[in-house]
Amino acid sequence: MAGAYWRKLVLLLGATLAAASTGLGDGDTQAARDPKQPIDDAYTAKIHKYTTEPFFSSPLVDYLPASKTIPTPEVVLGDVAGAPGILPYAEDVYKYMRLLEKATPRVKVFSIGATEEGREMIAVAISSEGNLKNLEQNHERLGKLADPRTIHLDDAAADKLVAEAIPVYYVTGTIHSTETGAPTALMELAYRLAVDESPYVRDIRDGVITLITPVVEVDGRDRMVDIYKWHLAHPKDFYPPLIYWGKYVAHDNNRDAMAVTLKLTENVLNTYVGWDAQVLHDLHESVPYLYDNTVGDGPYNAWLDPILVDEWQMIGARNVADMNLFGMPGVFTHGDFDTWSPGYLMFIAAMHNGISRLYETFGNDGADTQERTLEPEEYSRTWYRANPPLPKVLWSQRDNNNYEETGLLTSLHYFGENRHLFLKNFYLKSKRSVLKPSAEGPAAYVLPSDDPRATVQADLLHIMLKQHVEISRTDNAFTVDLPVKKEKKSSKATESEEKAKAGDSEEKSKPPTPTTRSFPAGSFVIRMDQPYSRVADALLDYQYWSPDDPQKTPYDDTAWTFGELLGVQVARVTDPKILLVPMQRLTELPAMGGLEGEGAVFVIDNHAEPALATLRYRLKAATIEAAEEPFETVNRKFGRGTFLISGISRADLATALKSLGLQAVALPATPAIKTHSVRAPRIAYVHTWISTQAEGWWRLALDNLQIPYDYMSTQALAKMTDLNAKYDVVLFPPVGWNSPASVITGLPTSWGNPLPWLNTPETPNLVGKNDSTSDMRPGLGWDGVAKLQEFVAKGGVLLTATDTSQLAITIGLANGVSSGTSEKMKIVGAVVGTRIVDAESPIAYGYQEKVSAYCDNGPIFSVNSLLGSRRRHLGSAADERPTGRGTKDDPDFVVGRPATEIPDQPEHEQWEVPAPSDEQLRNNPRVIPPTGRARVILRYADAKDLLVSGLVEGGGDIAQHPAVLDVPSGAGHVILFSINPIYRGETENTYSLVLNTLLNYDNLNAGRKNPDK
Ligand SMILES: [Zn+2]
Repeated sequence: MAGAYWRKLVLLLGATLAAASTGLGDGDTQAARDPKQPIDDAYTAKIHKYTTEPFFSSPLVDYLPASKTIPTPEVVLGDVAGAPGILPYAEDVYKYMRLLEKATPRVKVFSIGATEEGREMIAVAISSEGNLKNLEQNHERLGKLADPRTIHLDDAAADKLVAEAIPVYYVTGTIHSTETGAPTALMELAYRLAVDESPYVRDIRDGVITLITPVVEVDGRDRMVDIYKWHLAHPKDFYPPLIYWGKYVAHDNNRDAMAVTLKLTENVLNTYVGWDAQVLHDLHESVPYLYDNTVGDGPYNAWLDPILVDEWQMIGARNVADMNLFGMPGVFTHGDFDTWSPGYLMFIAAMHNGISRLYETFGNDGADTQERTLEPEEYSRTWYRANPPLPKVLWSQRDNNNYEETGLLTSLHYFGENRHLFLKNFYLKSKRSVLKPSAEGPAAYVLPSDDPRATVQADLLHIMLKQHVEISRTDNAFTVDLPVKKEKKSSKATESEEKAKAGDSEEKSKPPTPTTRSFPAGSFVIRMDQPYSRVADALLDYQYWSPDDPQKTPYDDTAWTFGELLGVQVARVTDPKILLVPMQRLTELPAMGGLEGEGAVFVIDNHAEPALATLRYRLKAATIEAAEEPFETVNRKFGRGTFLISGISRADLATALKSLGLQAVALPATPAIKTHSVRAPRIAYVHTWISTQAEGWWRLALDNLQIPYDYMSTQALAKMTDLNAKYDVVLFPPVGWNSPASVITGLPTSWGNPLPWLNTPETPNLVGKNDSTSDMRPGLGWDGVAKLQEFVAKGGVLLTATDTSQLAITIGLANGVSSGTSEKMKIVGAVVGTRIVDAESPIAYGYQEKVSAYCDNGPIFSVNSLLGSRRRHLGSAADERPTGRGTKDDPDFVVGRPATEIPDQPEHEQWEVPAPSDEQLRNNPRVIPPTGRARVILRYADAKDLLVSGLVEGGGDIAQHPAVLDVPSGAGHVILFSINPIYRGETENTYSLVLNTLLNYDNLNAGRKNPDK
């Protein structure tokens, strides 16, 4: 049965293919080989051999043009691109690109920077000899289109430039290291573009500068090739999962285009903007066979220019049409990817007036040819996928390369053919960015110069500079008008009735008073009349994702509002007057920090700036005390947690302060207040062999803050003797796996083979600078659990977040705390409101009451004073009187006896630990003594205040619940986070909740109040 079906299908597809290869492309250029074009017969034969079905190829790639002088990829690979068993290291890919550069004036190679581990990244430009000769002149033209202010927004001048300029189409490969096909496809594509004399390829060469970064995640590529080599050497064994890609993160390297914390993002961003490119096309592998996910699905990012949305539709539709004409099945552009978050690498283009594109092609995580069986939703025929993938196929890396190259060649041709349109659009998008203040607003964003968190403000400004956003600084103080907020009309009669009762009706008839806001001199202004206003607007604005949105499964985070996540004041100003305020453009951020006043005691007010922790570690010999209460001296107010520094020379302290941007005041005498020592703890930093991505963001933050730690796996922790002698704090960041049990058990060891993560002859790049093991499978184990229990019992501090907090609760380290989830709650990577509950806890030092935090669905913590028992919820009925005599507010009575007083039940807020009732205290060993109960540091806001930015649905289930807890355990403490305080380099507002725990590890009970019973 299967056989007949297959024959029929092959015949059908073959017929389509034949029709397509005789047809013409758009215009008069045939999308096929020129009959006069000489062919490399041996190479071509291998292409055919490795292509598993004729319809997995196209007339553009089913042959290789021959050249007498230019080497094919075979000279480096030892076989053709996409051959089974062959994955080149980045170094080999570069070697080939440089051979091309040597052999033809149509190729130039540029070094674009290094990775965290010091490996090179490159960009390869391929175009006609003439175009590459005129690169500089061409770049000047593109630069004027990119910044229309240079031509005074003159459309006629732009048209002239458009007619003469050659656009730049930037292709990036293998940012995701397990998606392995792009490097060989891009090697061969470079060769074709340089060599092929068919009119089709000549069109591309003459009309486009193709720029290629063949390997984006270079560190991860080299590790992936190692793994694949290990697999080839041990073909019958399971091979180790790629636990590390780059030094810090894995798949999330494609979520870094907002904060730009990774080198690969910075290097690609600088290349894209530096070339004034028009397109950034990023190559991925997942779904069959080619999903041009650019068009994807809604909701689209709200800050995009509609011109770009139309460009996506044009290019996407044409791409699918071209490949359908070739008879290649499984090519589509609609799908489940929403285009909301600007975190993806390709979005660098969308946010900088270009065109972002992304392909998902089909891959086998390596270069093995394998039989692959699809899921029904993958092979079904839909309205947007008229020729769907086949349910079951033999799939090769060559097939993958055929799809990638065919997609890119047709895209490049279409783009080059329509380059005047796309260049004009590029100019128009840039011009509309400059005209933003008058066209749509806002006029500017202002970061006031008196923001107490100056170092964090500088970090936010630094992100803007990395995004190539212009920043200005005002000479004087200034005032702007604030938009008049319209009173929202209530459609519900009941609400207006209530308001009328409350006496609001009078207020309603008053005209709204116009309001103004003043900013001090030296405030930072991000003007919206600049070419890259769009990216600043998108990052600084608020997001709202409606719970009623037809898209029910957001692809990624729904919010990122940088002012909130970093905890920096950002004012959105619509008043165009601000653009007339005298201000100077900054090329770099002003120097800040230092020491003022006279005296030998140095004081730094605490505003929860992460740089304070860096200072503590840097000034090893100095004495630092933390004020346990706010105080006032020399007419200045200082908050709780203020640093009092002594035992260091004024000059040494000033140097450290200047390098960190912190501001200190010298006092003549130590203020008479209660303090405790701020010490730099020795940190054991724990990771699993299950996933290292969520913790990778924590590691990156600590490294940037220069906070030292010993990095160890759960396996290593389990084998440590006397943890307390070596460490003060065990930091166990989230795993991202949501299964406490799997952290303990790891991968199964009762079957299968060991999975080494070690440097071996087959895997010279594997270990990198992170960690190693002879077998990744064992987890924390019961020995490790015992080690953690002992560490805390003997006085250590264990800090956990999200799923590792669930682990700590599960293994009994957090008395009186339970953790739950909610079916109806949907908080998808959103910014939520939280409130400091216990400002006297050192963990809260430096924070104001309201703290915006990143939350991704909890977990939901509940606290109790009874061990192992659920908290009692009194229903609303308990407050109401029963049926009986009298009015609603009267007490009932019983005939024949005097009235009895009903004892008051203690009331507790949702976040509070309820005191045990007298009944519960009767002979009950499960009652946790007052000194042993959880201390609530931070709670989630009330339901109505929970949403700050993004999607919050059913938030009532987590509202008011604890968000950060300090739980006494033995002689030590377990710190639990429901929010993720350190995430993607975007959440600096909550870093200090972690850093405060570190610096006050031996004084966490400061300010603690214990109930009487
Ligand atoms: Zn990917």
